[in-house]
Amino acid sequence: MKKIELHLHLDGSIRPTTISELLNISLEEAIKLSSVLNKTSSLKEYLDKFDIPIKIMQTKENLTRIAKELAIDLKKDDVIYAEIRFAPNKHLENGLSLDEVITSIMQGLKEVPIKTNLILCMMRGDSYEKNLEVIKYAKKYLGKGIVGIDLAGNETTYPVNDYQKLFEIAKKEEIPFTIHAGEADGPLSIINAIHLGAKRIGHGVRAIESEEALNLIKEKDITLEVCPKSNIDTNMYDKLEEHPIKLLFDKKIKVTLNTDNRTVSNITLNQTYEKLKNIFNFTQKDFLNMNKNAIQCAFISEEEKQELLELLVK
Ligand SMILES: [Zn+2]
Repeated sequence: MKKIELHLHLDGSIRPTTISELLNISLEEAIKLSSVLNKTSSLKEYLDKFDIPIKIMQTKENLTRIAKELAIDLKKDDVIYAEIRFAPNKHLENGLSLDEVITSIMQGLKEVPIKTNLILCMMRGDSYEKNLEVIKYAKKYLGKGIVGIDLAGNETTYPVNDYQKLFEIAKKEEIPFTIHAGEADGPLSIINAIHLGAKRIGHGVRAIESEEALNLIKEKDITLEVCPKSNIDTNMYDKLEEHPIKLLFDKKIKVTLNTDNRTVSNITLNQTYEKLKNIFNFTQKDFLNMNKNAIQCAFISEEEKQELLELLVK
């Protein structure tokens, strides 16, 4: 089945074989360092799995290669459009400029015939100035490979409202944004993110705990970027059977299906669909609707959305 993926981190999706090769370590070791093998106890421990990928994403060559390989993997996974996100400030350790980081990643994506765009992540815990740079560069490349921004990182320690001023600037600059919310933190985080102007919420599944959040999501026509396996890996839910995606779907909340991090969570989108079909009896039509939701809220033009819709049902 053809699919759209809107919530996908580049640094969490590097092929383990590439990590092994670039760090000169065994494949077994590479997998151990970059994937959640046993259930972790928190979002924080899950986030620690990004240390190794970040270490190798400090040169133009590696960034281009990693982006290209992800695009190839997406194509194999029957993805027809993806919005790939990364935090540009994490790739400056060896002296690259933000322009070099961004264009190297774009170069890798360009080498594969698949429609993709980039979302730049501001990071919770980063300084105001650092995150402001992210907005500046999103604006610079807006519509030229970059389509929006995001706020990622540890939600419990850094509440969304701490970033209000930055999102006001993004709004003024007409940069679309999504915000990670309602993952480690509860429904209030989602409510606040929507009030800040997010049209999409990364995860957002804890809306199920609050009528107020559910009503606001419907009222403002918000779409949730749901990443079921990732929520198991960060220990939000014990197993997929306990995940609220079906409840949200039945309440007519607009959901989309995503992997979040292909390597960290050791999963593809095809596998995600397969698992959810088996557990919740989602039909082809249900999945088609989720993909239509994804197209509708993608950060692209109406014309591009129409083209994708035609491609999706062809
Ligand atoms: Zn994410």
